[in-house]
Amino acid sequence: MSAIDRAEALLEEMGRAGAGALSPLRALGYLQRMTEGTTAGMAEAPTSPDAPKPAHDRGGGAPLRSPEGASPVMAQFLTLKAAYPEYLLFFRMGDFYELFFEDAGLAAEALGIALTKRGRIGDEEIPMCGVPIHNAERYLHELIRKNFRVAVAEQLEDPAEAKKRGSKAVVKRDVVRLVTPGTLTEDALLEHRRNNYLCAVAARRDRIGVAWADISTGALATTSLAPAGFAALMARLAPAEVILPAPEDDILAAAAREAGAAVAELAPSSFTPKRGAARAAALFEAAGLDAFGAFAPEEEGALGALVDYLELTQRGALPTLRPPRREIAGERLVIDAATRRNLELTRGPEGGRAGSLLAAIDRTVTSGGARLLEAWLAAPLMDVPLIRARHDAVGWLLSETSVRDALRALLRRTPDLERALSRLGLGRGGPKDLAALRDGLTAAGEAADLLSAGAPPTLVIEAAQDLAGLGALAAELARAITETPPFRLSDGGAIREEYDPDLDEARTLRDGAMQVIMPLQADYQAQTDIAALKIKHNNVLGYFIETPATHARRMMSAPLSETFQHRQTTANAVRFTSAALAELEAKITRSAVRARELEAALFERLSAAVLEEGLAIARLAEAMAMLDIWSGLALLAEEERWVRPAVDESRAFRIEGGRHPVVEQALRREGGEGFVPNDCDLTAEARGDGDPAQPIWLVTGPNMAGKSTYLRQNALIAALAQMGAFAPASAAHIGVVDQLFSRVGAADDLARGRSTFMVEMVETAAILNQSGPRSLVILDEIGRGTATYDGLAIAWATLEHLAEANRCRGLFATHYHELTALAAATPGLKNVTVAVREWKGSVVFLREIRPGAADRSYGVQVAKLAGMPKAVTARAKALLETLERGSEGPAARAARLVEDLPLFAAAPAPEAAPNETPEETHADLAAGRLRAALEATEPDAMTPRQALDALYALKALLADSDDA
Ligand code: ADP
Ligand code: MG
Repeated sequence: MSAIDRAEALLEEMGRAGAGALSPLRALGYLQRMTEGTTAGMAEAPTSPDAPKPAHDRGGGAPLRSPEGASPVMAQFLTLKAAYPEYLLFFRMGDFYELFFEDAGLAAEALGIALTKRGRIGDEEIPMCGVPIHNAERYLHELIRKNFRVAVAEQLEDPAEAKKRGSKAVVKRDVVRLVTPGTLTEDALLEHRRNNYLCAVAARRDRIGVAWADISTGALATTSLAPAGFAALMARLAPAEVILPAPEDDILAAAAREAGAAVAELAPSSFTPKRGAARAAALFEAAGLDAFGAFAPEEEGALGALVDYLELTQRGALPTLRPPRREIAGERLVIDAATRRNLELTRGPEGGRAGSLLAAIDRTVTSGGARLLEAWLAAPLMDVPLIRARHDAVGWLLSETSVRDALRALLRRTPDLERALSRLGLGRGGPKDLAALRDGLTAAGEAADLLSAGAPPTLVIEAAQDLAGLGALAAELARAITETPPFRLSDGGAIREEYDPDLDEARTLRDGAMQVIMPLQADYQAQTDIAALKIKHNNVLGYFIETPATHARRMMSAPLSETFQHRQTTANAVRFTSAALAELEAKITRSAVRARELEAALFERLSAAVLEEGLAIARLAEAMAMLDIWSGLALLAEEERWVRPAVDESRAFRIEGGRHPVVEQALRREGGEGFVPNDCDLTAEARGDGDPAQPIWLVTGPNMAGKSTYLRQNALIAALAQMGAFAPASAAHIGVVDQLFSRVGAADDLARGRSTFMVEMVETAAILNQSGPRSLVILDEIGRGTATYDGLAIAWATLEHLAEANRCRGLFATHYHELTALAAATPGLKNVTVAVREWKGSVVFLREIRPGAADRSYGVQVAKLAGMPKAVTARAKALLETLERGSEGPAARAARLVEDLPLFAAAPAPEAAPNETPEETHADLAAGRLRAALEATEPDAMTPRQALDALYALKALLADSDDA
């Protein structure tokens, strides 16, 4: 079937389903299926177009080869590889992880490392590449970033062990861990200030259950939602990896990939609710899940799959997760994927933090605080008492400046507790993680004391309670762990002196070697009468006695040879050992080993003590993160002069002196003129019939006047207020918003290969179908993606529907001035315009929102500001005047202009005064056509593709005239 045939078939299918039934998610699915084949790899390439498809989608790195005829090691490799065909196999060989066959080719290319060969199997040479153990993390990071998954096979025994079984015996190896994007725990592989979510999704009839965990922090949550909300949840969580039942559902997988996730599959049996509930309960050592909430079957299924996947990838070493928190639909402000992108809440225009609202408001000083702030901003609240309680906390820390400063100083000393705890739980922790807990718990204890003074609001009191109570553990760790412990336990020196008497004794023996050796050396010097005799140590011989070569003969004959046994002769010296020295040496070695063993045992005991308090530490870490957020928001409010918003259950929306935080900060950085604050009042007013009309403001004004900025700032203020922050305004009163929508007309999406107009309409349809009286809707130049009359008609009908049917609060920016007439005649609609002043034929932006409609679009003046040649702007101005004269519509007038050929004479001389209508002398038919065609195009209303087509059409006209 050709792409066009398929598109037609799908359109028919869509029609049968009925337009009303078309959720944005389904629409997206349809769109993607339509464009399949025309745009290669669209669904697969979530990040960059040249990124390789997930290894998982390759259908395996190495095709299965028979281990027959392979060397024993290769046979072992092939057996392991056969068990993990869709993973790159890191095969531990000494100090390297080696990769073979296709894996080697893929990894060498992805990592830019050399591809070599290692023997052959039959006639086939075996390609190989390797990465050294000591910086394997760096390479793992690179591979995960490029959407590969990696299976790590370790040596499970000492090569010396294997040797005992015979010289040909192969070292035992097995896969100990699967590294996937959603199961990372290493600091080097993770972004500190961002959560790394792994999601599992179970679909049942018309509900979708989602469970998500960040195993690097222990967070776990579930929710059950209608399919229409799935894409929005994915956009909010931006998971690293999503687990779906095999075979993957197109629509769910597309939504996951759209949010940037890698997709993994598990057998459908992993998603069975009953089994899932049992598996999850077992994880928390509970009889059932009821203890943690009333989970829906689809949530249980998702939880079960999540546990299965963790077991599979961690090979039994399960992370310590906190019991699942159930999120109930209606608890959070709903923000769909397109709105999130538009408002640049947590990701800026380049996809990173830079330029986002999050970056503009983040004053946190801990990684945990930064992560929680992102989670809060991504999902603002709807619960009015809780919102106000957060405002109380921010307000208290705003006024209590000395408490705030002291608190922030403590927070700065607080390491990443959640991630240290998670690594210890997985058995991947080290001495540094215990030191982190020591420092964090100590700081938390001090913070608890600090906050007990004065009269803090409820949430701060609750947080302070969570901070206290772990003082004993903190003190124990402080006694036990050295100030700056080594990275690896085996390096020794993690445990302080005077913590454990046995350890002290073993260390004294080990380090006291010289004290025991020295008297022996003096003895031997006296006995042999050789002053130059020394007891030395090297790695080959261990301890030995050395004399200059000149004494060799005497040393090696009786009676001295009875005490000293010859070991080695070098150029200048002879070396010996003795029974007494050998005994001493054995004792020293034993004590070094014993010291290491004792340290390891103490480390285990302390880790166990920490994990015993895992839940309390997790709560403490969250309390610290919240205090970090509140004090950061308080500082922000102080520095940026933000105010506490009033939030209630009304349908008010009244902002005085509102600002756009990102634009305001950018303008300040650039210097120059400051941001002009603006008011907005969308509060419902009682109508005659008692039903309050929800006002929608229609915003007109020239390009670049500040319409888009104004629209967005009001949406951002709502999101900020409901997440618990103060607002960038001089006053704000917001009746809680349940859904936030924001759309921009004809945002060109060539990279994704979609018809921009279709996307615009699908998204607008979603708003008209979903928004209600509690919603806040921002529509920015909807209808721009099509021809003038089409666009105007669609914008008009949309506006009417919003006002009459949806009855939401809304802001609607448009360049269709015709719409202002509608506003004047419709209750609830109000015209406002961004003020500009015309000055000496030029336009000055005042950035002020005022009642009324823009009288015209000032396109010519804006073009002038943009540096268009004077001749062109002058000519355009003259044409505009002609077009605006007379009573017929613009199209008819344009047609008449073309007929009035003399008008299309050569362009006026560049010096022509702007107000003079240039005089036309001779006519040129082709030039006239060209000009008319140019006049008829509206670059503002075009997609880049349409513009390209128009350019070709213009060139064709020119060619015609050349031929003539
Ligand atoms: P429009 O949507 O009307 O074309 P924009 O909202 O994109 O205009 O604003 C254009 C530019 O004007 C912004 O990039 C910003 O630099 C500046 N601007 C917008 N609003 C303000 C304001 N209130 N105060 C100062 N500068 C502003
Ligand atoms: Mg705009």
